[in-house]
Amino acid sequence: MSVTCRIVTTLRSVDGPCDVCEDVIPKGMMYCTVIIRMGTSKKTGKQKWRSDKVHLNICLSKWVILDYMRFNERKKSKGGRPKGSGMHLSDDGKAERRHLVRTRARLLRLVLATDDTERIRMLVARIEPIQVRIVEIGGPLNENLMHRDLSIRDALGAKLKEAGSHA
Ligand SMILES: [Zn+2]
Repeated sequence: MSVTCRIVTTLRSVDGPCDVCEDVIPKGMMYCTVIIRMGTSKKTGKQKWRSDKVHLNICLSKWVILDYMRFNERKKSKGGRPKGSGMHLSDDGKAERRHLVRTRARLLRLVLATDDTERIRMLVARIEPIQVRIVEIGGPLNENLMHRDLSIRDALGAKLKEAGSHA
């Protein structure tokens, strides 16, 4: 994905510092404000923005490169156990468990996608033995490691209950 930002170019109305080199941008000089979206605030649900005032020279290029690096080095949240907290399974066990966990997730997505009770029962009948085998291999799944939205979790729970299962 490319990194985008918004640039607003203005003449400085009073002296003020550059956010890159910290030198002054004097009154009357053309400069730019770079604005990036920081995602949504978890607290308020509002979009967060960040803006920096920079010189329209090498400072702007530096800022752009820094922004690009920030974006590419940001922590990506991935599913699965944190590193170093593994389950000490053999490579075969690991591969089988991973395969089963993925199959289970795929079947659960199919459950979410349908309202047909018969189909849900059929899917659940496939999920249950997988669930049993997962536990056999490495113990129960840790719900906290699934990056599943709470509303989806509830919807799934309701559908599974309807079909009389606890997968
Ligand atoms: Zn500067």
